[in-house]
Amino acid sequence: MDKAVVKKIAELIKEPKRIVIISHVNPDGDALGSSLALYNILIQEKHQVSVVTPNEYPSFLAWMKGSNTVSVYSKETAKATIAIQQANLIFCLDFNDARRMDVAMDDYLKSKAVKVLIDHHLDPAVFTDLTISKSEISSTSELIYELILALNKKHLINKAVAECLYTGIVTDTGSFSYSCNYVDTYLIISELFKLGIDGEHIHRLVYDTYSEDRMRLLGYCLSEKLKVFQKYGIAYISLTKEDLKRFNFQVGDTEGVVNYALSIEGISVAVLFMEREGYIKLSLRSKGNVSVETIARKYYDGGGHYNASGGSSYVGMEQTLKEFEKLLPEIMPVK
Ligand code: 5GP
Ligand code: MN
Repeated sequence: MDKAVVKKIAELIKEPKRIVIISHVNPDGDALGSSLALYNILIQEKHQVSVVTPNEYPSFLAWMKGSNTVSVYSKETAKATIAIQQANLIFCLDFNDARRMDVAMDDYLKSKAVKVLIDHHLDPAVFTDLTISKSEISSTSELIYELILALNKKHLINKAVAECLYTGIVTDTGSFSYSCNYVDTYLIISELFKLGIDGEHIHRLVYDTYSEDRMRLLGYCLSEKLKVFQKYGIAYISLTKEDLKRFNFQVGDTEGVVNYALSIEGISVAVLFMEREGYIKLSLRSKGNVSVETIARKYYDGGGHYNASGGSSYVGMEQTLKEFEKLLPEIMPVK
């Protein structure tokens, strides 16, 4: 970790400040976990802290300490705007491009606050004053742990902070099934367990809380909406607005769905296409040495990680799928 940047952050939080922590649109376990971990650290030092998410976070994360204080920009716009306007320090967590703030971006860009990015995605854009970016690390939560140690504030990591960090690491590694070959991750996990967290309980809260609709949507995706192109080692699932309505879609219900397509033997690239308001959202995943980040960046105005990225298409579902199928030989010329 860059010592000069850590020193500047230490300086910035020396006196109580009005701080906003922003995470990305469609916040996942790492976005919310890292944000609330930092929140639970900073409030102990008398800062006035607000966590802002551009839109709603999944209900399976709503148990984390501080989640009830989060300002969801799309729902509580005035509250979120005021927090951003009044902030003199803004932390951007778990994204690499200002556009990932979605509806919260304009307020962010207008703000004169000192801005700090803490992230683990590839090729971060420059939209903050300070940047801590490590793409080789499992999660932003792991990076927050490192930062807290570098700031000599390990004593502030209490059980609530540990639960948030653990959730971020578990969800961003698919319960230690990818981005998980680094010793440091497990050393940090062992430190978190020393604080008395209950890993089994957290697992149940995050993974064993499907609604019946969510489970049936998963079944429908796999039995009706999965297309497999064995020749190319590619599979995709597509969900239209009608599909989502049929299963009473709630935020977070498609979390993890794309990984099932990737679990098929011989499949190295999997994509979930999901119809959103005015665009198609892509979730791309890969196994091994195929960069879905390159695909997302080149064709879908997106990015992320080597093996997990996202992007968007603006030409409707039918056309998007048609174009994607045409791309197959290019994406994966040899199996
Ligand atoms: P997901 O498929 O779960 O939405 O996203 C996979 C990864 O790519 C996450 O780390 C997410 O933050 C990132 N990501 C998703 N969509 C986009 C996008 O449109 N642009 C960029 N730069 N990253 C994205
Ligand atoms: Mn992350």
